Amino acid sequence: MRTHMFSKRLFSFASSAPSPRSKGRCGTNSSLAVAAAITVLCAGLPAMAQQATDDVAPEASIDIPGLNSGKTATGQEWMVSVANPLAARAAADILHKGGSAADAAIAAQAMLGLVEPQSSGLGGGAFVVYYDATSGKLTTLDGRETAPMAATPRLFQTEAGEPLGFFDAVVGGRSVGTPATPALLAQMHKRWGKSNWADLLQPAIETAVEGFNVSPRLAGLVARDAERLSVHPSSKAYFLPQGKPVEAGSLLKNPAYASTLKILQAGTEGFYKGPLARRIIDAVQNNNGNPGVLALGDLAAYEVKERPPVCAKFIDYDVCGMGPPSSGALTVGQILSLSQAAGLALHPPNHANAWRIIGDASRLAFADRGRYMADSDYVPMPTRGLLKPGYINERAKLLKRDTALESVSAGTPTWDHAGLWADDESIELPSTSHLSIVDEQGNAVSMTTTIENAFGSRLMVDGFLLNNELTDFSFKSHADGVPIANRVEPGKRPRSSMSPTIVMKDGKPVLVVGSPGGSRIIGYVAKTIIAHLAWNMDIQQAIALPHAVNRFGTYDLEAGTEAEKLVPAFNRMGYETNIRDLNSGIHAISIGPNGLMTGGADPRREGVVIAK
Ligand code: GLU
Repeated sequence: MRTHMFSKRLFSFASSAPSPRSKGRCGTNSSLAVAAAITVLCAGLPAMAQQATDDVAPEASIDIPGLNSGKTATGQEWMVSVANPLAARAAADILHKGGSAADAAIAAQAMLGLVEPQSSGLGGGAFVVYYDATSGKLTTLDGRETAPMAATPRLFQTEAGEPLGFFDAVVGGRSVGTPATPALLAQMHKRWGKSNWADLLQPAIETAVEGFNVSPRLAGLVARDAERLSVHPSSKAYFLPQGKPVEAGSLLKNPAYASTLKILQAGTEGFYKGPLARRIIDAVQNNNGNPGVLALGDLAAYEVKERPPVCAKFIDYDVCGMGPPSSGALTVGQILSLSQAAGLALHPPNHANAWRIIGDASRLAFADRGRYMADSDYVPMPTRGLLKPGYINERAKLLKRDTALESVSAGTPTWDHAGLWADDESIELPSTSHLSIVDEQGNAVSMTTTIENAFGSRLMVDGFLLNNELTDFSFKSHADGVPIANRVEPGKRPRSSMSPTIVMKDGKPVLVVGSPGGSRIIGYVAKTIIAHLAWNMDIQQAIALPHAVNRFGTYDLEAGTEAEKLVPAFNRMGYETNIRDLNSGIHAISIGPNGLMTGGADPRREGVVIAK
């Protein structure tokens, strides 16, 4: 069982001092022109040992000895918190040269697709929450993959109508939705870019040609996924050269990725139409026994959508994020509002009773999520009703007790339109990456980016992996004759849990936060917000605070941490508990009233904060 370096701390983190910073490699690279002027927080790194396979969390479980929860980084001018040091540096270089937060996010994403290819990239999708300091406006952009127009609700069912096994659905072309990230990056640049578009992709092009050192996390994940990565020849050739998994520290070059980025330097047309688009479709439609139905027309028709931000009240903050097709902001918002309405503040921070409220608020929110949340362009949703104070206060009454709720079911929020849906049956396994960036003007980007499962569909085309995002749909289309809101439909966007968030106070951002982690993302983000804003923990401590997550009844407690000590109290309250790895990747920036920023990077991954 893994032991975090913070496992010996008391579970009450409010009084614990930050640990001394390790001399990780992430802080020693001098290629960044501004190295002397910046603070670098190294969240984790060096040698690693692979941990036993855990199919419930494909991008979890990479044990990195010396993992360090780090010190909180501070900055007055700009800050980036990103899951990989090379990607963080690419973003920091752009900010140093006067680029905007959106520019920096584009540079970071181009690099992440190279150095953290298991989690996100050009073949995937993302959601962005953006704060524009000049207009004071918050915008959310939906860069979610779409189902092919030829897809039917039976996409993930056998001939007999039974749901396919998860990996039978994932590996191959069947699970691939229209890649959205290139269109999203271009849209971000069009709206908020200051730098030259082509220049933003250049650092990743150069690194792809010169090669980069494989990170311990990437090497560990390749080794444990070797069999599935071997199904498609181009993934095998790249990740398992000479049949052996790439090793940590070895130099890996990806000239094909450099060529793809060069195509993108001329614009996204070359990605969505023409020879590259044809190669994507060829890989999807003609592969080892699990072909998909994605077609050239789907690529040519792809559109990023601006959606209204969804905001929930918590204390005196507005917690704002991505609405449908993400369940993120609504479910995080429900957890926070329900917890507050149920009297979270009456209990000492971080004690079993406080966690009971948070855990059961989360169960109530997940029941609503399973019933009502999907792509609202396809299914009417009670989006406003789910966060209405009257509804929240009514649901919160259920939490005014001392023991766990015996059973939980969806509530009856008010509707804008009538609707009747069956409970959802989709499976979400975590991969994904989150980045938080604030620039010198105070513009902020909160972006969660994904190819869904670690290494997505395992199909590699021209140096990047194609997503398996369609498996975020419910495999079953109906339950007892009632349709499931999140069933597959042509052109629809699969429901997501990604929760890129910007917390506002008096119209100004105070916290930029998000995480990967499948549907547990919601719990990771809610916990970080509660720990930082209600329990007044420093942002790094709030991120490192051991996880306790409850979605469907069983309380998941982070293995090797003080969270394990909650077991007796939880059992007395009536919860089943499960001690397990909980592999978040929270990257956050807190902004103080005087503009001083403090940043944190999740000690469970390889991220860093760079600031000036
Ligand atoms: N595909 C998932 C979603 O959109 C995210 C997976 C993850 O976080 O690892 O909700």
